Amino acid sequence: MTTKAVAPLENGRVEPLQSDARDLSAGRPQDPVIELSGARKTYTSGEIVFEALRGIDCQIYEGDYVAIVGPSGSGKSTLMNILGCLDVLTEGKYILAGDNVAELDETQLATVRNRRIGFVFQQFNLLPSLSAVANVELPLLYARLGAAERKERALRALDSVGLADKSGNRPGELSGGQQQRVAIARALVTEPTIVLADEPTGNLDSSSTDEILGLFDRLHGLGRTIVLITHEADVAARAQVAYNVTDGQFTGDALGVRR
Ligand code: ADP
Repeated sequence: MTTKAVAPLENGRVEPLQSDARDLSAGRPQDPVIELSGARKTYTSGEIVFEALRGIDCQIYEGDYVAIVGPSGSGKSTLMNILGCLDVLTEGKYILAGDNVAELDETQLATVRNRRIGFVFQQFNLLPSLSAVANVELPLLYARLGAAERKERALRALDSVGLADKSGNRPGELSGGQQQRVAIARALVTEPTIVLADEPTGNLDSSSTDEILGLFDRLHGLGRTIVLITHEADVAARAQVAYNVTDGQFTGDALGVRR
């Protein structure tokens, strides 16, 4: 696979890393970015079989801001692992940007995780000994870009989350909200198809929570596709569509309310 030179677009975003990356907005506007059909996940441990996902159907389109909300134990992390291609379904189908995930081999899955999915975690998962910009560069190491291009992209991603002036700071020198913004910049740096955020405000105080939710609002306004997993209804309320998950199924407003 070849890589393209970095070309800034009008909105400050950069082109995808791969020349074969799909331009969803131009090519196939009607196709969902994520399509789950009859999604089931069963954990088996000895004699014990537990159905964590029990038949989920869901379609997410480019530019959607979707929350998946439910109490502890409802299956959110299981769903996150499936959507993030960290685990596979026991039954049903997951199509990500046109690819049937079950048909991808380990190398292809690793590439999908690196290029198509921008992960944001509750605990930030930054490397403490590296500066903010070096943390943001990490996904680009895998993509084998040159040092100058890595740094340029990472600085641009940090700028897009309002942290250009903190690029040389280590995580320990930043507030929780700022650390999460660095983590979001790291998620954005590969221009992923979706940003997948697992309880991104779970470790933050209320003002940092507002800061991060405001940033997601802005990213959504710029056309990003965001899937946010949370147990907090008020966080989920910020999204455009909210799916309630209970006992491994979408319940209530299962189809969401498109705001
Ligand atoms: P949530 O993220 O909403 O708290 P999880 O997806 O972590 O929920 O878990 C859903 C259910 O699946 C829980 O009852 C949990 O105990 C069970 N579960 C999760 N992972 C495993 C596993 N590896 N083996 C067996 N059961 C699991």
